[in-house]
Amino acid sequence: MSVTVVGAGVIGLTSAIRLREAGFDAHIVAAELPTETVASSVAGAVWYPRGSSARSRQAGWGRVSLGVFAEAAETGRPGVAIRDMIELRQQAGPDPWWANPDRGFRRCEPADLRGGYQHGFIQATAVIDVVPHLEYLTDQFDETGGTITVERVTSLADLATPDRLVVNCTGIGATELTGDPELVPIRGQVVRLGGVSIPRVTIVDEGPLAYGYVMPHGSECVVGGTRTVGEWDRTPDDSVTEQLIEKAIILEPALADAEIVAVKVGLRPGRDSVRLELEAVAGTPGIIHNYGHGGNGWSLSWGCAAEVVGIAETMSE
Ligand SMILES: Cc1cc2nc3c(=O)[nH]c(=O)nc-3n(C[C@H](O)[C@H](O)[C@H](O)COP(=O)(O)OP(=O)(O)OC[C@H]3O[C@@H](n4cnc5c(N)ncnc54)[C@H](O)[C@@H]3O)c2cc1C
Repeated sequence: MSVTVVGAGVIGLTSAIRLREAGFDAHIVAAELPTETVASSVAGAVWYPRGSSARSRQAGWGRVSLGVFAEAAETGRPGVAIRDMIELRQQAGPDPWWANPDRGFRRCEPADLRGGYQHGFIQATAVIDVVPHLEYLTDQFDETGGTITVERVTSLADLATPDRLVVNCTGIGATELTGDPELVPIRGQVVRLGGVSIPRVTIVDEGPLAYGYVMPHGSECVVGGTRTVGEWDRTPDDSVTEQLIEKAIILEPALADAEIVAVKVGLRPGRDSVRLELEAVAGTPGIIHNYGHGGNGWSLSWGCAAEVVGIAETMSE
């Protein structure tokens, strides 16, 4: 059975790679190439699936994805590394569901704390420098014989034929294609700083700095972040750039010597939960929807791709 994957961000690429590995004749159609996508090419990015519990579907996708990224880091694949991540908190709270002593989970010592935070935890995680890693995934897909056609799709149902399955990985683009009222853009601005080597990731999501992060990639690092729900405008805001750098210097004082390399704005495909399911289309294998990953798309990508393959195999039986 042939498969058309619509979308070439991390969700489309990982789905298409796994489909080809499983023997499907899968190709991608996308309005933007991987390194120009509105979410995947802008992210920090770190493996950190927010908002899930240990037994959720999302946690399962997250575990699979971390395993793939960890192996990619161990085997020297471009743009992925394993680093310590520290999350600073105001209250001690319970351990997160993903706490894992094998990945070095521990509570912060006083020497780890900064920015007025009293608690926190540390664990090694996958950190992805998205542009080189998207280039690597594109090459991986290409090596399996897959092709990417640059084209804007106006109807998913029109792409489905009796022997062609469609997989919808269009991120925030799914608003137009599906009319899904639950899907909303969550604008995020990041600043890429250069010239300073920072050893570990730091994240805060509450307290004095509200929301901020530092995600290092070699001698550069991505600092954020902002979350503006319902905002489509991708023009960077200079005052936000200044605020992000101020916060980052509180978290990592060495960044006071860094230089701005780039400022980017992306649109996370926000939804209460990921839509990963088959939609029936009469006379065809149907449409598998795989969108709405919000701020977790990198963290869930490989697990969702495995589930897409499982659904596709059921349809081809
Ligand atoms: C600032 C920021 C920081 C983030 N940090 C993290 C992080 O640390 N960890 C993490 O796990 N996640 C993070 N995320 C979230 C993550 O980047 C997204 O969840 C993920 O990239 C979504 O991938 P996607 O492939 O669904 O969408 P996209 O990357 O947006 O790709 C969508 C694809 O669909 C195509 N498309 C859309 N409409 C059409 C159409 N009509 N016809 C044809 N093609 C179409 C586009 O051209 C594109 O190729 C962050 C996101 C942002 C913006």
